[in-house]
Formats: sequence, C-alpha cells, structure tokens
Amino acid sequence: MTATTTDNVGAPILVIGGGISGLSAAVEASEAGHEVYLVERNAYLGGRVVQLNKYFPKLCPPTCGVEIHLKRLRTTPRVHLLTQTEVVGVAGGPGKFEVELEKTPRGVNANCTNCGECVEACPKERPNDFNYGMDETKAIYLPYGAAFPARHAIDFDHCDRDSCGKCRDVCKVDAIDFGGKVETETITVSSLIVATGWKPYDANKLEELGYGKFKNVITNVEMERLAAVDGPTGGKILRPSDHQAPKVVAFVHCAGSRDELHLAHCSAVCCLASFKQANYVLQASEDATVRHFYIDRRAPGRLEDFLQELENNERATFVKGRVAKITEGADGAVILHAEDTLSGQKVEFTADLAVLAVGLDPEAKDAGFPSGWLTDEQGFMVGNSSSAAPGVFATGCAKRPAEVSACVKDATGAVLKAHQIARRG
Ligand SMILES: Cc1cc2nc3c(=O)[nH]c(=O)nc-3n(C[C@H](O)[C@H](O)[C@H](O)COP(=O)(O)OP(=O)(O)OC[C@H]3O[C@@H](n4cnc5c(N)ncnc54)[C@H](O)[C@@H]3O)c2cc1C
Repeated sequence: MTATTTDNVGAPILVIGGGISGLSAAVEASEAGHEVYLVERNAYLGGRVVQLNKYFPKLCPPTCGVEIHLKRLRTTPRVHLLTQTEVVGVAGGPGKFEVELEKTPRGVNANCTNCGECVEACPKERPNDFNYGMDETKAIYLPYGAAFPARHAIDFDHCDRDSCGKCRDVCKVDAIDFGGKVETETITVSSLIVATGWKPYDANKLEELGYGKFKNVITNVEMERLAAVDGPTGGKILRPSDHQAPKVVAFVHCAGSRDELHLAHCSAVCCLASFKQANYVLQASEDATVRHFYIDRRAPGRLEDFLQELENNERATFVKGRVAKITEGADGAVILHAEDTLSGQKVEFTADLAVLAVGLDPEAKDAGFPSGWLTDEQGFMVGNSSSAAPGVFATGCAKRPAEVSACVKDATGAVLKAHQIARRG
C-alpha cells in the first residue's frame, strides 16, 4: 500500500464570522487537524442565533445547539479566537494568503470573573444592540447572560474612560483597561471560509408599513427578543405603546422580500419564523389570536409538519395577499390593508400588534472584501463547489438564506473544500 502524504494537512484556515456557520466550520476544521483563526466582529460568538428565543422546528432554546459547538471549541487547542476583529486586507492566493486583521480593544482583560460589580458602578448607558436597541445596557456590559467569551466589554463610544474610572475602582481583579488601542496583525493562512451571515432588512425603508412611525409595528427579530426571557420585557410579549399583552397579532410575511424595490429574493426562513412566533403568542395567552398575511406559505421538507400544526389551530387564520399599507387606529391599534387574492376582496384588519417578517440581507456585501470575490445580484457570496475566489469558500447565510441545520451541514462542506487547498499547499 502506498503511504499517503500528510504534508500541509494542518495548514491554517481563516474563518470569518463566528455565528453558527463559522463556529461549526472552526470546530470541524480544528478537529480535522487544522490550525484555525476564527475572526468575529462582535464581542461574543453565536451570531444571530443566540438572539433567537427558540429554534424551529423543535422549539428548543438556541443555547442547546450553540453550547455543543462551544464545548468542542473549548477543548480544541488549535482555534485562535479573535473577537471584535475584522479583516481589512487580503493578499496572496490559495495555499498562502496574507490577511490583515484589525482588532478593536475590549477594555476588559482575561482576569474578568464576570462578577458584574463594574456594571453596578458604571453611570453611563448605551443602546443594547443585542436586543435590537429596545433597551439599554451600561457602557460596560456583558453582551448576554451565556455570552462566550464570558467576559464583559466596554463600549468606548459611551464611556468616559479615566475621567470616570468607576468600573476600574470597583474591579477587584484588575480587569479594566482604558488604554487599549486598535491593533492590526497580519496572519498567513492556506484558505478562507467566509461565514459573515446576515442582518435584518432595514424596515425603515418600508415606509408604507409604518415601522418607526407606529409603535406597535415591530420586526420579526424584535419579536424574538420580546419573547426571550433575557429580553427587554423579561419574556413577556408586550405592545411597545402601552406595555399590555396584545390579543390580536398580525404577521406580515415577505415584508420587503420578493420585491424588486427591496430584497428580490425569498429569505427561506421567514415564513417558518412567523409560524414559530405565532406559537409564542398563542402559548402566552389562551385569548390571543393571530392572522398571517402571506404570498406563499413556505415550509420545505419536514418543516411542513410545523405549518400544519399551526393550520390546525383555530386561533390562527391566514389571508393570501401582500399587505399594501399599515395605518394607525384608536389606542395604538394598527390597521392592515391588503387584498385577499383568493376572494379578490380588499381587506382591512385591525390588530393590537403587527410583526413585519423582514428578510435576510447578506452582511458580505458591506464587509469591504476584495472586489474580485464573487457575489450574486443580492450580495450573497458564491459558495462551495464554485468558490467565491480561488481558495475562498462561503458558507451558511453568507451564501444563501437558510435555517440553522442546513448552515451547520454546509459549513462542514466548506471545511472539506478548504482542507483540499491546505493539502495541495
Ligand atoms: C426572525 C428569524 C427567526 C429565525 N428563527 C430560526 C429558527 O427558529 N430556526 C432556525 O433553524 N433558523 C432560524 N432563523 C435563521 C437563522 O438565524 C440562520 O440560519 C442563522 O443565523 C445563520 O447563521 P450564520 O452563522 O450563517 O449567520 P449569522 O447568524 O448572521 O452569523 C454571522 C456572524 O458573522 C459575524 N460577522 C458579520 N460580518 C463580519 C465581518 N465582516 N467580520 C467578522 N465577523 C462578521 C456576525 O457578527 C455574526 O456573528 C431565523 C431567522 C430569522 C430572521
């Protein structure tokens, strides 16, 4: 038997983005023997998934899936985790990329024991981006309860540093560092995996749907945080206008999606997310009802069961028709105007709360990546089998909108392609 070469098997791979896709890619690559650089823009790992209340289809908390990956990450010595870091330059090619990284200071070093006394002492506040700005944290904050790394961070845009110094005064382990500066570092890797994921489409651009104008029009990502126990309302779904539990909730599917003026693509997961959120509402109160305004009810493969269960619930109703506009009624009510395309009738429906199912807008298009890296018309990167550029492989929602289980499988595929480059050297 001829011995196979193992040259370059462990060559370094860079993973950009530490959401569920990047996290999966990093642990798979490291367990296959590679040295991995995992670069994440946020102060924590997990991406958008850790901001969800529950996962469909099993409706378990997102920490279940993420925690398994984090456990693997903790026990592999080969992953260099770089949070609050972004790629600012790429040179070279497959087998030898020189990648320039820029790291923003965290302001809190590894001594941090997470005691939280700094938070008590801090006098300044900042909008809580983890809760999509629906509440505030202190300028020194833990991103969320189960954050990894489990360490506080300082938002220097809202911190008075030395002229305040209250957090440093109370810190018993000398963890506070106001002096950190933005640092750059160049690393050499054999291939790159891009897992930069998505952001919610900006609902402010959907003027006719009243977001930002009427308090009781919210987005689907905000709904996830309202329903979450660690969210701004402690897990109670309350109307922003009066903090009362809504009895009638309208879900506006395809808010800006499949629309040439906004996002031309279908985001694949929004219908299921709306069905899931309908369950949040129905389970919160026996008197509550939900109405879905949809173009198509998309629930692929085994996820069809999830839709059928909701269809069988008599407190859930469905209207096939795109919502043309939302206006405001008395006492903060919202009025949805649509055409029921099955009956041909114009419909006006009054609800206590409207939830806009905004789609997935790819982060990669705004990341400042080299112009030669291929994206489609929507800004999603071209993926695995045909690479975005030689030695550059996109995965997860950087490539196309998808649910978590599909992203995890896709990330494993991207690692195989990156591994092939590493072997070739
Ligand atoms: C309302 C809603 C509900 C959903 N509910 C479910 C559900 O119940 N079940 C399910 O399976 N799926 C659900 N999804 C889909 C799920 O959110 C995605 O499958 C998942 O987020 C994809 O993970 P990802 O890692 O590809 O992207 P992301 O979660 O977006 O992670 C990308 C990571 O990359 C980082 N990043 C971005 N740009 C850069 C950069 N330039 N440099 C460094 N880092 C960067 C980000 O900070 C982030 O950490 C839902 C989606 C929506 C909109």
